[in-house]
Amino acid sequence: MSDLSPIWTEHAHGWLQVKIPLPFSLKWVNSYLLPGDAGWTMIDPGLRTEEAIACWDSVLDQVGIDWSGISSIVVTHHHPDHYGLAGLAQMRSGAPIWMSQTAMKTARRLWGKDETFSAELTEAFVKHGLPSELEQSMLEHMTGFREKVSPRPERPDIRILEPGTEFKMAGAIWEIIGGEGHAPGHVSLLDRRRRLLLCGDQVLPQITPNIGWMPGGDPDPLGSYLQTLRSMLGLPVDIAFPGHRDPFSRFDERVLEIAAHHDRRLSHMLELVGDGSISTFELCEATFGARLRGNIHNLRFALAETIAHAVYLEKSGKLIRAADFDGSIIRFRKA
Ligand SMILES: [Zn+2]
Repeated sequence: MSDLSPIWTEHAHGWLQVKIPLPFSLKWVNSYLLPGDAGWTMIDPGLRTEEAIACWDSVLDQVGIDWSGISSIVVTHHHPDHYGLAGLAQMRSGAPIWMSQTAMKTARRLWGKDETFSAELTEAFVKHGLPSELEQSMLEHMTGFREKVSPRPERPDIRILEPGTEFKMAGAIWEIIGGEGHAPGHVSLLDRRRRLLLCGDQVLPQITPNIGWMPGGDPDPLGSYLQTLRSMLGLPVDIAFPGHRDPFSRFDERVLEIAAHHDRRLSHMLELVGDGSISTFELCEATFGARLRGNIHNLRFALAETIAHAVYLEKSGKLIRAADFDGSIIRFRKA
């Protein structure tokens, strides 16, 4: 597995891939700097941590770019490891932030002042069987993200990327490709002429993007994700630049691998349900292992991913939902 060094790499067309450190198992998020006549475009600035800010200061210094040399900031989706530093980057550079309308609204719902999402998510997880001793740490884990996405980008300098339209950026025309399942309103950017795709977390090499259900969000994120994968198959892509790990070729092959992974996981989960009934949390532990209880961040992703698979199986008519004896915990059994 590759690590954080070198912290930045130059690719064709003078593009810079910058590995911004993350305090999670993922280790880093890729930000990209694309040169253009009017200045540099910064894609996905990272999570707002002291290490990330120090990393940016050091990289910009090494490359000889001043913050004022950043002319636009593009955010592929609202997840804190991509969006969290956008507000600070905007403050320092004075550049506008581009993101989809849905990503902007989702960020506001999740990270806005007086947000209630952290409590809603924790409550939903408890209904899916999260043990009560983990309830408080899940809630604290969620609210702990607020500082990592502060300051939030300021309007009116948030501009909207509209999926299905074209966008001029760094001296090229890009198609804005909407995607669902990993994050509402995720956008990938395709330079059809040079066959380059900035794909955020929609498609990743080596690891599969998290498909997480959340309350008040997409009721069937895995269904939406698989539909997005099908729609991206056959795009003219020689090199894809992802949000995690390194740029990769053979895009279609990777899309098919990820779709096959979900097929296998769905079959495996059906086997785990067996002839009895199971709570989503029990299904999560049976799938990912009980050691996740010691890592609340990974547990949140695993449980959200398990719910996404369970509701997909429910919509496909393979699982049905049954409440337990007092109706408080959701359980699934085979249809
Ligand atoms: Zn993401």
